[in-house]
Amino acid sequence: MIPRTADWKNALANAVRDPAELLALLELPQGLLPGAREAAARFPLRVPRGYLSRIRKGDLTDPLLRQVLPLAAEQEAIPGFSNDPVGDQEASAARGVLHKYHGRVLLTATGACAIHCRYCFRRHFPYAEENPGRQNWQGIIDYLRAHPEVDELILSGGDPLMLDTPQLEQLTRRLEQQPQLKRLRLHTRLPVVLPERIDQELLGWLARLPWQPVMVIHCNHPAEIDAEVTEALGRLDAAGVTLLNQSVLLHGVNDDEQTLLQLHESLFRHRVMPYYLHLLDRVSGAAHFEVGQQQAEALLERLRAFSPGYLVPKLVREIQGEPNKRPVA
Ligand SMILES: *Cc1c(COP(=O)(O)O)cnc(C)c1O
Ligand code: SF4
Repeated sequence: MIPRTADWKNALANAVRDPAELLALLELPQGLLPGAREAAARFPLRVPRGYLSRIRKGDLTDPLLRQVLPLAAEQEAIPGFSNDPVGDQEASAARGVLHKYHGRVLLTATGACAIHCRYCFRRHFPYAEENPGRQNWQGIIDYLRAHPEVDELILSGGDPLMLDTPQLEQLTRRLEQQPQLKRLRLHTRLPVVLPERIDQELLGWLARLPWQPVMVIHCNHPAEIDAEVTEALGRLDAAGVTLLNQSVLLHGVNDDEQTLLQLHESLFRHRVMPYYLHLLDRVSGAAHFEVGQQQAEALLERLRAFSPGYLVPKLVREIQGEPNKRPVA
């Protein structure tokens, strides 16, 4: 059954936001509650129930749980970790428009996400000021007119699929008047965390686009791919969407060879090619997720030794002011 618009809106509205409820549902010690509440006061808890159902109960080491559970450790100030580690606030070219790299601009189409990932580098970003949807998309249209060399638009966020399909349609109808555009790319975690979002209406929109749509999903662990996600990826593939994946290398989540090998094999079975494996952006509150660069390089060596070349993602780090994401190793 292909989901309807109401299905994802309901799933989103029913997401778990209360740390006490999360701990109760997952049978975790209530002693974690004060720390979780404090961390959630800075960056709120948010987990869709479908994602929650993939987490093992009573297991604090569960790799999906670690991505969503607010922890007291987030409050520690660690040298080298800042609120804007990749310089996005500086690179902001116009409201919601980030132009860092040649030929492609990134639009933070909305600040909202269906899930709040504790390691997220945008956790301190002033999203309220970065919502171009409210201005009828005029900002991005003006920007593209002034920069005819830009031939790819990347919709990001937050999560661009948090916009409803009529809003996306309004944007792309205006973009169709920009002859320079060759590609439309979406960076989204929703196929993985809210697969209901890949509904009939969205598939119709994708099919009508005059550009080849590229979707970079964001999957960090093979256990994130359950039957619903499998079906959602199948629908995207059938709609002719080019599917790529980016992951963040996260301590205690996916920083071992077997997990990454399984992740890439599973993605490939679903017709998703591994694209980037990101070293953590050093955002304050996320230090406990960091994997050192040497360890990351060693891990990548082993992936190369045991995988076909096309299942090895590029290990990259984003460095402020550089012309591209920097390949590591
Ligand atoms: C990551 C990123 C891109 C895309 O880079 P690719 O290497 O093409 O995937 C574009 N713009 C911004 C601002 C980015 O952060
Ligand atoms: S979905 Fe992406 S932007 Fe949103 S919180 Fe997670 S990592 Fe950050």
